[in-house]
Amino acid sequence: MTVRVRIAPSPTGDPHVGTAYIAMLNWCFARSQGGSFVLRLEDTDQTRCSDASAQAILDALRWLGLDWDEGPDIGGKRGPYVQSQRQAQGIYAQYAQQLVDQGDAYPCFCTSAELTAMREQQIASKSSFIGYDGRYRDYDPEQARQRIANGEPYVIRMKAPQVGVFSYRDRLRKDSVEKRWEEIDDQVLLKADGWPTYHLAAVVDDALMGITHVIRAEEWLGSLPKHIWLGERLGFALPEYIHVGLLRNPDKSKISKRKNPTNLLWYKQQGFLPQALLNFLALLGHSHPQEREYFDRDELLRIFDLDRLSVGGPVFDRVKLTHLQGLWLRDFSDADLKAEMHRCLDERLDELLPLLRPRMTFGGDVTWLADFVFSDNVEPHLETLIPKGWDAAATAQALEHIQAAFNKGIKKDALAWEADSLESCVRGLMETHGWKPKQCFSALRVAVTGRNQSPPLFDTMAVVGQHRVLPRLAQAIERLKRVR
Ligand code: GLU
Repeated sequence: MTVRVRIAPSPTGDPHVGTAYIAMLNWCFARSQGGSFVLRLEDTDQTRCSDASAQAILDALRWLGLDWDEGPDIGGKRGPYVQSQRQAQGIYAQYAQQLVDQGDAYPCFCTSAELTAMREQQIASKSSFIGYDGRYRDYDPEQARQRIANGEPYVIRMKAPQVGVFSYRDRLRKDSVEKRWEEIDDQVLLKADGWPTYHLAAVVDDALMGITHVIRAEEWLGSLPKHIWLGERLGFALPEYIHVGLLRNPDKSKISKRKNPTNLLWYKQQGFLPQALLNFLALLGHSHPQEREYFDRDELLRIFDLDRLSVGGPVFDRVKLTHLQGLWLRDFSDADLKAEMHRCLDERLDELLPLLRPRMTFGGDVTWLADFVFSDNVEPHLETLIPKGWDAAATAQALEHIQAAFNKGIKKDALAWEADSLESCVRGLMETHGWKPKQCFSALRVAVTGRNQSPPLFDTMAVVGQHRVLPRLAQAIERLKRVR
C-alpha cells in the first residue's frame, strides 16, 4: 500500500503551532514510508475562513520545510484541494443524496428556535442526552418532498444507529475507543445553505483523495464513530484513523494563545529558526531512539516511528525550544549567521523605524535603542522600577492591576494588542485608582523595557508584543514583592 496522508487546516485565523505539529507528523510518516503528503483546505465555514489565512498557513508550513506533494497551490491528480471549490462542483451534495436515497440520511425541518427549545427542555428535565432528538428520522418522505418543493429550509442529517456500541482500535491507544450509539446524535451533514459540514466533507474528501491514514489531534476522537459510519455507508475504503495528544501549556491545559504564543508567524518574527522549531516539534510525544535531542530533518526521517508516539499530551516548553534554537544558531557558518542577523533585523525594521527615527544618530543605534525588542528578558534595577513617590508595594499593586486588566481583555478577546487600546486600558485604570501618569507610566516603562527612557510607551509595548510584555510584568511584580 502506498501511504497517502494529509493535513487539512481550516483557514480561520493565524497559522497555529498545533497545525504545524500535526503536519509534521503526517509529513514524517509520508516521507519515511515513501508515500505522499497532501494539503487540503477545509473552508466550508465560509463566515470564518479567509484567503489571507489560507495563504499564511501555506507560507508558514513551507517556511518550516514541510513540503507537500499535492495541494491548492500546486494541484495534483485528486484536486481541487480546497473544499469550497469542491463544493462548487457539487461533490458533497451528491454523497448526501446517496445517503438519503439509501435511507442513511434524512431531511430535517427543525428551525433554530425549535432546536433551542428542545435543548432547554432536555436540560430542564435533566435528560441524559442533550442534542437533536431525531424527530424527523421517520418523517413521511412524501411530505418532506412537498415541503422541500415549497421552498422550506431544511438540513440533511445522518440517520445514526440508535443501539449497539461503536468500537475502534486506534494503534496508539491501549484500550479500544468505545461509545454507545444512543449517545451520538444525528449529525447535520448538509446545512440549510447547501454547504456540507466538516464531517461529511472530510469523510468524502479523505476517500476521494485516497487517504490511507488520517493522523490528527485527539479532539476529533469524539467524531470518529460518525466518520467511520459515514465512510462505511458510502462504501468507501476506510483510512486508518490515528489520534495524537493535544499540545499543552506548561500547566497541562490545552495550548492556548493566552499562555503560549500559538501563531507560527510569531516564532518567525522573533527570530526562531525553522530548523529549531521543527526539531522541537519532533520531540513532542516522540523521541530519538538514542535519546538525542538535537537532530536535523534527514535524521528525523530516519528515526521517525509513528508507533512510538505517546498520546499523553506533550508540553510545549518554550525554554526547551529556546535551548534548541541556540544550538542551531551557534552551529551556523559565519556567512549563514550574518545572513540570519540581517534577517532578524529586517523582519522588525518596518515597525521599529517610526519609533527609533527621532532618537537615532547612527544606523547602528538600533542595537542599543531597541535591545528590549529582541532580548528574551529585561532586568530592570529595582531603584528604577520603583518610581519616585511610590514604594515597592504600591508599584507591584499597580502593575498587578495592569496585568490583570490585560489578561482579562485578552481572555475575552476584547483587547487588541495595539497602542491605542493598550493606552485606553491603562488610562482607565489610572482614573479608577487615582494614579498619577508620571508614576504609572514610569513603572510600566521600566518593567517592559528595563530602562526609564524609551520611545513612546504604548507604541513600544505594541511592538514588544503581548508574549514578551506579560512575562516581563509578571517578573517585575515578583521582584517587587520580594522587597521588604
Ligand atoms: N479542518 C480540521 C481542522 O482544522 C481537520 C480535522 C481533521 O484532520 O480531520 O482541525
